[in-house]
Amino acid sequence: MCKDLVLGQGQQRSSAPAANAAANKPQQQNGNVSVAGPPAPKYHAPSNQFSKASAPSAMKTPGGSQAKVVPIASLNPYQSKWTICARVTQKGQIRTWSNSRGEGKLFSIELVDESGEIRATAFNDQADKFFPLIELNKVYYFTKGNLKTANKQYTAVKNDYEITFTNETSVVLCDDAQHLPSVRFEFVSISELENTPKDSIVDVIGICKSYEDVTKITVKASNREVSKRNVHLMDTSGKLVTATLWGNEADTFDGSRQPVVAIKGARVSDFGGRSLSVLSSSTVVVNPDTPEAFKLRGWFDSEGQLLECSSISDVRGSAPGVNTNWKTLYEVKAENLGQGDKADYFSCVGTVVHLRKENCMYQACPSQDCNKKVIDQQNGLYRCEKCDREFPNFKYRMMLLVTIADCLEYQWVTCFQDAAEFILGQSAAFLGELKEKNEQAFEEVFQNANFNTYEFRIRVKLETYNDESRIKATAMDVKPVNYREYSKRLIANIRRNAQLG
Ligand SMILES: [Zn+2]
Repeated sequence: MCKDLVLGQGQQRSSAPAANAAANKPQQQNGNVSVAGPPAPKYHAPSNQFSKASAPSAMKTPGGSQAKVVPIASLNPYQSKWTICARVTQKGQIRTWSNSRGEGKLFSIELVDESGEIRATAFNDQADKFFPLIELNKVYYFTKGNLKTANKQYTAVKNDYEITFTNETSVVLCDDAQHLPSVRFEFVSISELENTPKDSIVDVIGICKSYEDVTKITVKASNREVSKRNVHLMDTSGKLVTATLWGNEADTFDGSRQPVVAIKGARVSDFGGRSLSVLSSSTVVVNPDTPEAFKLRGWFDSEGQLLECSSISDVRGSAPGVNTNWKTLYEVKAENLGQGDKADYFSCVGTVVHLRKENCMYQACPSQDCNKKVIDQQNGLYRCEKCDREFPNFKYRMMLLVTIADCLEYQWVTCFQDAAEFILGQSAAFLGELKEKNEQAFEEVFQNANFNTYEFRIRVKLETYNDESRIKATAMDVKPVNYREYSKRLIANIRRNAQLG
């Protein structure tokens, strides 16, 4: 039977033979989404188990013909005339493809009734027709479509089959179906994502703790520009995960009021720890009307916002307030950070109060990624022990000791290349040149660098030399102070202290 031809992803027949045959008959109900819905179908499942032969009830369609309303669980490729009454629990964006066979577009939805769930995809003309008509979370009668074996790679929907819309498919609104389950989330706690395998499809809910600006990237394959935005979600586990939104979702997202964000069908990526990618098949709901969302909102407003959260995603380039472990220098000492077996990391706001000019830079091996100190052979050559080679040149590397202070304490911090260059506001190469040629200008660079305040990310670890142990602090990152976030933290601290009092 032509009708049951299985269509692969990205393939679409321009016209279905079965549809041509049917074209002579009136097709009033096809493609109509009528607001005045027909009577609700009343099938009552004796249990969750539907047999393939379960007795369907009749539904009078607006077109006047009768169709069998069957449970989703009974759909199979050997049955072509059916109607299901189902809620749209997920609606993806329209996607386009182009390959050697041509180009086209598609979008997918997920449907749920009392018996189960199924994914449905509309291609090309059907995509154009149905995309504007089908709304998330509404209930429709869906009549006719091809069933094929589901590609589990693209979906977490629990059904062996999926529906492909044909030009015989009709979709009619059903406005009396409160009994059908609404969007079904199976939320995974953010802390659980750390042990979730890469490429898993998960549902996640979190408070949007912070979010980044939209950036534009060019997709190589299609040479199209696409918007991209990272948002950072936190839940009651105290963990934070970075989720990447794309396209329209990225453009329109507003996280300014720290909304609750639920994502259905995000893909777990292991790019930089664990992060989430929101796919075109994913559904993002801001402030969903669910008990989980209300609970999370209440938790965050009362205590969650005071909680120091730690990110399971890579901290590089992520938003302020992420994976920070803010401390005052006094707290760092009082809490004995760095005294354990492993290094500790914290962030602080500190002011540079002293910079040690002496030995702040050294002559290093010029080969890529080797920063080993070279030995001046006094014959115009510089020897690197690590590379076991002599070079006619070297590069300057920085190892700057600075003292930083906050309101209560001081701390010596070692700043390597990037951190030192940032604090001094000059490149190591330029400073090396100044040091050789203009001692006074070199001096001035250090004077100007003093008494500036920054956000430091610091690693502390106990190190032992000659039976003497002391804490070594190294700057991992130095940034300008984000005063907006800094003030928020201070206010949160004041609140917390007021509660303690
Ligand atoms: Zn080397």
